[in-house]
Order: sequence, then structure tokens, then C-alpha cells
Amino acid sequence: MPLDAIPAPVRKPIPRGQLLINGLWRDARDGATMVTTDPTTEAEITTVARASAADAEAAIAAAYDAFETGPWSRMRHEDRAKILFRMADLLDDRVDDFAIREAMDMGMPYRDFCDVIMPHCSGLFRFFAGQAMAHMDGAYRTSYESNIRILTRREPLGVVGAITPWNFPLALTCSKIAPALAAGNVVIHKPASDTPLTALALAQVALDAGVPEGVYNLITGPGGVIGDALVKSPRVDKIAFTGSTSVGMNLIRNGADTVKHQTMELGGKSPNIIFADANMEAALQAAFWGIFWNKGEVCVAGSRILIERSIYDEFVERFSALARDAVLGDPLDPKTQLGPIATKSEYEKILGYVEEGKRTARLTAGGGAPKIGGKGLFIEATVFADASNDLRISQEEIFGPVVPLIPFEDEEDAIRLANATTYGLASGIQTSDLGRALRLADRIKAGTVWLNTWHKYHPNAPFGGYKMSGYGREQGAEALENYTQYKTVWANLG
Ligand code: NAP
Repeated sequence: MPLDAIPAPVRKPIPRGQLLINGLWRDARDGATMVTTDPTTEAEITTVARASAADAEAAIAAAYDAFETGPWSRMRHEDRAKILFRMADLLDDRVDDFAIREAMDMGMPYRDFCDVIMPHCSGLFRFFAGQAMAHMDGAYRTSYESNIRILTRREPLGVVGAITPWNFPLALTCSKIAPALAAGNVVIHKPASDTPLTALALAQVALDAGVPEGVYNLITGPGGVIGDALVKSPRVDKIAFTGSTSVGMNLIRNGADTVKHQTMELGGKSPNIIFADANMEAALQAAFWGIFWNKGEVCVAGSRILIERSIYDEFVERFSALARDAVLGDPLDPKTQLGPIATKSEYEKILGYVEEGKRTARLTAGGGAPKIGGKGLFIEATVFADASNDLRISQEEIFGPVVPLIPFEDEEDAIRLANATTYGLASGIQTSDLGRALRLADRIKAGTVWLNTWHKYHPNAPFGGYKMSGYGREQGAEALENYTQYKTVWANLG
């Protein structure tokens, strides 16, 4: 069906949000609230509870008791899996509500949410429900005593604090909650203060699916207060964090006193290497969506495009033309490719980088911040050619629809530039030479390498960073390593 013929969904009133503690929705103890705003209309959407450290303590106490007393942590794997499968089904049933919330709250195109994000989220619950039923225990013999058996068990960690950012609010929550619950842990979710709306709906899904009280808790409130309470509490066993490298470093330091288990999904400045022998059309598409999907507010955005010198001029011209044609608009409109920037502070930060780019490189597309219907935090798809790799726009995470284009001479030069960053989250190589693609994939220091593509994800594919992009893996069976611990039982059979 042509996009013009698809009726656009409409904004709707969203009820005010509360905290979920021990299976009950309630206001913050001191009654405080905070506002969440629609970046398209710049109007208030609703208010949510603004928790204090006392509320965080109440959630920690509820979660701790739920873990210690069961039934979740002791439930048969099959019964836990049934509840997780139910959560997956409820997510799919409620996709329209979730998609409208994410569009209003962070400007994510409704269509992308329905086509890509929700299938991934419900897929995560189904994948980890399956993993919950997988055999996780082992039995071994020693080589020297025939009466001795070694039994290994994988047990849940306990209370998991999940702290998530605003750029993919639902997806990055599900990638923590699904494996945490599947392994028998209990969770306390602290979503980003700017985008709490899908977190509220997900917590309701958990209740409706039959997750027992105290097993799933939701605390909305400032990261400096709630995140701090979670990471410093001796009764929280693990922090699963996605966010900026600076806050991640802070959490690592603050978790040291309680030897906290932590996984860190941090920032990125991912190189997309385009060789002259690449299929030009496909490479242009991979580069366009690599940086401009979700308006560049993507940790794995292809935010440094490295182009072989012999095709550099042609690529710059054609890529810039694509960027100039990018459709900005209301994320609820099916024709929209780039919605508004999620928050005013990010919008201003990105525009600062645009000005910096104008001084240090050659602007070939975008650079403007148009209002649509007189409103909205929109920034055009912006391209800077003739950038060097050591500019601020080439080294710092802009986290918006802005990209430097950098020429390279040969394979060695490409790999040198690609790895010349403190980050190591993702990367891509566009070439028709499979041998070269695999050779370079070996040498790139990044947790994900996309060959002749970009933005591919699947619940069974491990995801995470190298270097200052973090440690630990989400998704895939590997994620369960980060939500379980091994116990070794030595049995003397006599
Ligand atoms: P952020 O500022 O680090 O915030 C992330 C979360 O941490 C929010 O819930 C925030 O709460 C909380 N927080 C803030 N200060 C805290 C503190 N002192 N202690 C504990 N928690 C604290 O990151 P963001 O701006 O929301 O997200 C963008 C960043 O996330 C980018 O750097 C991006 O690359 C990264 N990211 C990484 C991945 C990945 O998988 N590697 C994926 C997506 C995004 P408040 O909202 O209340 O401040």
C-alpha cells in the first residue's frame, strides 16, 4: 500500500504514571511528580511519579523479599517460561499503544516501532523463555576419585537493577528484563526520566502476565538519586546499565564497595568503511540508514563514514543528495523517516556540533533545524565532507543525525582510521570482496561488525561493546552468563 494511503495513528491522552512496588501502583512517598514532553508538539504529555531515595529503598526491600521467599526464584523453569511467553503475546497485542507512547515520548517513527522494535522485544521474551527451559546444570567426575561427583548449578544472582536510556526505551529495557527474569532474578527498572511511558506499559504487561508481586518493580525518578541508591545498596546484586560512558564509569566506581555485578552498554562512534568495489546503491542505503535511523539517536549508528579515495567524490555527492531528500516529520506520520530529537537538551547539544562542523569541515547537506507547523525539535540530516578523523565531530558521540565523511587510501589506512577511537561498539564494511570483508572483520576492535549491511539485530545474536563501549553481552544465550552464577557441589558417594 502506498504510504499516502495509510491512515496515521493519532496522539492520545496518557494516564499519569506511578511507581510499581511489590505489585502495587502508588505515588512517590512525598507526592513529587515530573513532566514528560512530546518533542514533536513540545507540549506536556503527562506527569509521572518522581521517586526519592526512600521509594528506591522500598523497591529494593520488596524485590529482596520476593527473591528470598520465592516463588519466582524457585519456580519450575517451565512455569516461569509460560509467564514470559505470555508477556511476549501481550506486547504484540498492545503494539499500537506502545508505538504511540514511544512516538510521543521520544519521537520514534510509529512505523519503525511496529515493524522492527516490537517484534524484537516480544522476540526477546520468547527467546529467553526458551532459554529458561534449557538445561543449565552439569555433572562431572574427577580423574582421581571414582566416588566423587561434581554437580554444577547455574543460579540467579538475586536483585537486578536495570537502568536504561531514552533512545530505545522499550528495546533496551526488554534486553535486560527478559534474561534477568528468565534466569530467576527479580528486577527493579529505572527508566530514563525523559522517556518513561513504555516502561509504565511494560510493567503493566508483567502484572497482567502473572509475574508475582515484588518480582517486577518500576521506579521513575532522577538517575543521580535512584541509580545511586541501586548501585550502592548491598541488597542489589547486579546493575544492568545502558547509557553514556561517563555515567557508566560512575556506576562502576560506585559499585566497587559492594562488589556489584555490572554489565555496561555504553557509547559508540562506529566506523562504516565503504570500499570502491562495494555495490554503490547498497552501500549508500547502508550508510544512510546506518546514521539516520531513529534520527541518529542510536548507540550503534554508523557515525563515521570512511570512503575509499577513488569513489570519494561520487559517494559524497550521492550520499548528500539522499540526506537532502530525507523526510522529516511527525513520527506518527507513516511517511516520516526522521522524527524530532528526543529532548531539548540533546537538540541543543547536537546543534552545537553542527556549528562546530561548519567551522571545521565542509557542509554538504542539512545543517538546519526547521520547525514543522511552527513546532518541534527537528534537525535536518546533516553531512560534513572532507572531515579528518581527529575532529571533535569525528571522535565524539553526537547522538543525532550528523555525520562526517572521511576519505581513506587503502585497506591499512581504513583499519587504522576505523580503530582510531576510544569506542568499540559497532562497525561496518561495505565491499564485494568477501575475503577482504572477513580479513578486516578480524582486525576491527568492535563488538559488532556488519558486512554489506547495517542495523541487523536478533534476540539470539550477542550484542555489546569493546573498549570504552562497555562489557558484558546482552541478547543471545551469552546474556544469561551475566544474570547467573555457578555453584559447584562436590558429592562424596561413599
Ligand atoms: P545517560 O545520561 O547515561 O542516562 C542513562 C540512564 O542512567 C538514565 O536512566 C539516567 O537517568 C541514568 N543516570 C543518570 N545519572 C546517573 C547516575 N549518576 N547514576 C546512575 N544512573 C544515572 O545516557 P542517555 O543520555 O540516557 O543515553 C544516551 C547514551 O546511551 C549514549 O551515550 C548512547 O551511546 C548510550 N547507549 C548505549 C547503548 C548500547 O547498547 N551500548 C544503547 C543505547 C544508548 P535520568 O534519565 O533520570 O538522568
